[in-house]
Amino acid sequence: MSTSKPLVRAEKVDKWFGRHQVLKGVSLTVEKGEVVSIIGPSGSGKSTFLRCVNQLETYQEGRLYVGDQLIGYEEQNGRLVALNNRQIVAQRRHIGMVFQQFNLFWHMTVLENIVEAPIMVLGQSREQATAKAMELLARVGLAEKAHAYPMKLSGGQQQRAAIARALAMNPELMLFDEPTSALDPETTGEVLAVIGELAKTGMTMIIVTHEMGFARQVSDRIVLMEDGMIQHEGPPEAFFGEGQSPRLKAFLSTIH
Ligand code: ADP
Ligand code: MG
Repeated sequence: MSTSKPLVRAEKVDKWFGRHQVLKGVSLTVEKGEVVSIIGPSGSGKSTFLRCVNQLETYQEGRLYVGDQLIGYEEQNGRLVALNNRQIVAQRRHIGMVFQQFNLFWHMTVLENIVEAPIMVLGQSREQATAKAMELLARVGLAEKAHAYPMKLSGGQQQRAAIARALAMNPELMLFDEPTSALDPETTGEVLAVIGELAKTGMTMIIVTHEMGFARQVSDRIVLMEDGMIQHEGPPEAFFGEGQSPRLKAFLSTIH
């Protein structure tokens, strides 16, 4: 039996936007080094779940842990008390997130984008941050674009730069929210290849994606989310093999 604790542990997480409940008792654990893909129809709460993990949104009920940290709250006598901004920033520091829309800073070169947070947040020297950034750019195949501005890059290159930027913070967890949905088919492959390589390094990752072939290839486990609930989870073989649940079949038929 494994004695190590899961890196991510969501226990009956509930999230409302006003009166609209978008996460309904979501429970999910992700082990260290595990790659979990979340699939499911649009509007089912996939992004909201990732955003709760990274505290871009707050959940209202349940418990969400990354490592031994309770995300967003302190527990006092069984009640949840919200953390302050400084505590939230400290928790978020260990989590990298890559969005559909890249979110690079337009007025900075690729290199400047990458060294910004390591210098400002981690207190690294410019030399140290630059050396690490160049190593990461080489890893995502963008070394020669270090001094280019994002506008001059293709979508795929921008997304690879965004991945390098997230990795520069030495995250223990990487979250990907439909990282290739804004890309054309030619550049989708190069971004998926970078994410696939990262998966092999033992990085713990949660990936929201509609790329079923990719999910099947890189994931240790796949989770189907529908209407704010996890409807199904299992290893890819079980997911895509014989004996699929009717729900899963119905969803897969909408994207194939
Ligand atoms: P998915 O990523 O699976 O497409 P989302 O997590 O983006 O789904 O959205 C889940 C539900 O929450 C949707 O009904 C969406 O309209 C709603 N929602 C998302 N963000 C907000 C928000 N900031 N305010 C109100 N409702 C939101
Ligand atoms: Mg989404």
